[in-house]
Formats: sequence, structure tokens, C-alpha cells
Amino acid sequence: MSKHAPAPDLALATQQIHHPYQAPEGWAAHPVGVFKASTVLFKNTADLHQYRPRDGKSYRYGLHGTPTSYTLGARIAGLEGAEHCLLVPSGLAAVTLVSLSFLRPGDEVLVPDNVYGQNRYLSESLLPQFGIQHHFYDPLDVAGFSALISERTKLVWLEAAGSITLEFPDLIGLLRVCRERGITTVLDNTWGAGVAFKAFDLLPDSEPGLGVDISMHALTKYPSGGADVLMGSVCTRDLALHERMNYMHEHLGYGLGQNDVELVLRSLPTLELRYRAQDATTRALAAWMQAQPAVAQVLHPALPGSPGHAHWREVSSGGAACLFSVVFQPRYSAAQVDAFVDALQFFGIGYSWAGPMSLAVPYNMSRSRSLGLPYREGHLVRFAIGLEAEADLRADLAQALEVLKD
Ligand SMILES: *Cc1c(COP(=O)(O)O)cnc(C)c1O
Repeated sequence: MSKHAPAPDLALATQQIHHPYQAPEGWAAHPVGVFKASTVLFKNTADLHQYRPRDGKSYRYGLHGTPTSYTLGARIAGLEGAEHCLLVPSGLAAVTLVSLSFLRPGDEVLVPDNVYGQNRYLSESLLPQFGIQHHFYDPLDVAGFSALISERTKLVWLEAAGSITLEFPDLIGLLRVCRERGITTVLDNTWGAGVAFKAFDLLPDSEPGLGVDISMHALTKYPSGGADVLMGSVCTRDLALHERMNYMHEHLGYGLGQNDVELVLRSLPTLELRYRAQDATTRALAAWMQAQPAVAQVLHPALPGSPGHAHWREVSSGGAACLFSVVFQPRYSAAQVDAFVDALQFFGIGYSWAGPMSLAVPYNMSRSRSLGLPYREGHLVRFAIGLEAEADLRADLAQALEVLKD
């Protein structure tokens, strides 16, 4: 329990550990208590009748928050450099919360072509049922993006780096256009996790304040870190945007299990440490894979030559997430690439990422892009690197590549 509120310029890890938290009277320990309730008791009927706005301090019903979840919300806001935070039961719930809060019949939303798959399906299949249209844009083409904007455009999704193909968008260029046109922007910040760049202050030295309006985060990934919790958050600095999302949040009935909230609180102090350790292993393995004859291309924003590398450098504070994708030489069939994945011993086959276990998933990209791919041809495997030793993972990749020897 820190005596003073931490200075905002503290290193992330220090900030997450030395965070002000009021333990119950007579109790002194820094872990946050787990408070659970459906019913929250009122002192008397006058207290019950009194209107209590959900301000992160007052309580009305367990669905809306407890001291445990409000503490997590405050810490996630601190991690992202925001003022306000709403917690929801999954990353996807955070995506739908934002889109449903800002889009109405007749409106349009712009979505990057490499957006998280479920966000793509939301725009393609669910939103049209409410009379909401979408356009996919190339996140590296600011001019093409500008041309898609009309007076019906009410929301722009951004994702840095994008899913699977990991192009890093021209964030600065795209945000300047949105700012000029007065359009609300929301970033899926799961990859950056508050560590790789500052979503609300992308160029703190040259252009303070250039940043996104809203940051959405799948806490399922780094903030959990254990591959055992599903949760999401939506952060903003703008009270009016927060209140609009809070209104939708209350209508949708998004509640959280407080044991899950506790797990995320427990993982936050090691978030930056894990992010940087996984980053180091990921870069080493990505570079090693790039040198293998079976590999046509490795996609990872920190690798020079990877699509959007210059844009990553522009905003980066040095970090990159634990993901890279490998495009195999086109001479290998999908079945051969599957056989390579099956031959891996230390890589689980399954979705999600940022947990302790490394994962590998082959993707058929032809079904999930409208505007083309950042490579000519070849089957792709997306790797998520966990916390295993780099040498063990490298040896595993090497033995599995034997499957692809001609
Ligand atoms: C995992 C993920 C989500 C969704 O999170 P869930 O908790 O699995 O629903 C959203 N965006 C990105 C970029 C993700 O990786």
C-alpha cells in the first residue's frame, strides 16, 4: 500500500506496484481484497432513493462494480495513460461495447482490413442488421482511408499492429485525418498493452495530445498473462465519451467474476517484465525463422522490411508484442505446413496469446481480407511466444522444420 498517489511519470511496473489502495481499517497489506456481491446494502430508504451515479466510488448493485473491480479499472486506466475505464467480460465484449455505443442506423464505421477477426465479423454480419454500414481500409494508405470518410462516418477503428499479418498502421497519419474531420477514434490496444507505445500521447516530444480517443484492450492477453481469464477494458480521457459507453455498459448487463478480477490484479505488477521478456524471445526467434530456407517472409513490426515497420518506429517506446507470422515458401502445400505445426512439441495449437505457453496456428488468409495481403503467396502460421526458454523453442522449431526438407 503506497502512502502517496504515484507520479504519472513513474515506470509502468513501479506504477502498478506502488498504486494507492486503501486497505480496510486496521489491515495493512498491498494485495487488494476480493469483494463479491449481487446485493449491495443501503443504510436506509433515504440512501436507497438517492441517485448514485456510477462514478467509480459509489456502489448500487454488484453488476456495476465492487471495490475490487473499481481498483482494477483505475490501474488499467493508469497503464494506458487514460482517465476512465470500463471493465467487461471479454475483449470481444469491449469491441461490441464501443461499436454499439457510437453507431446508430444510417451511420458508417471504418475498420482496418487487418482488424481482429471477430471485430470484422461484427461489422460484416451483425451491424448491418441495425442499419450500420462499414468500409474496410488499408491501414498503410492514409489517402485511400481519407477518401472513404463521409458525413455518415461516426467511428474509426484502429489496430496496431493488425491481427495475424501484423502490419503496423500509419497511426499518426490516420489520427490527423480523423482529428481534422472530428471523427471518434478507437484503438484495439491489445498488442501494445500500454507498454509498446502511448495510445493517448503518441508523439509526447513533438506533438503532445495527438492520440486516440478510446483504447480498447483484451485483458485476456497480457494483463491476465495466465491464459486463464477472459476480460476486456475500454479506456478514455474524455468524460463525455466515457459516459456514453457507461450508459451502454449498464444496458448490456456486463458483469465480472471478482475472482477473475483478482487474478488480473495479481498479474499486473509483472506485466511489463513479461512483455519485455516475451518480446526479446519473440524477436530472436522471428529473426532466426527469417533465415530459414523454407521461409519466404516473417511478419513482425520490429523487423526492418516488415509492413509498417517505419510507422512502428515513429511511435514506439521500444517494445513489441510476442507475435510473429511466418509465410512459408509457396512450394509447400497447406497440408505440409499443417504437418510442420503438428511436429512442434512446445507450441500448443490454439487461439489467444500472451500466456506462459507458446502457440502456433496456421491461417487461411484468403478468407479474411478484402484488400489483399502484404505478401505474394504462401501459407501462413501465426506464432505467439510464451515464457519458455528461447533455446528450447528454437530447437523445437528446427526439428519441426525437418518435415519441410525436400
Ligand atoms: C484476443 C483479442 C481480442 C478479444 O479478446 P477476448 O477476450 O478473447 O474476447 C480482441 N482484440 C485482439 C487484438 C485480440 O488479440
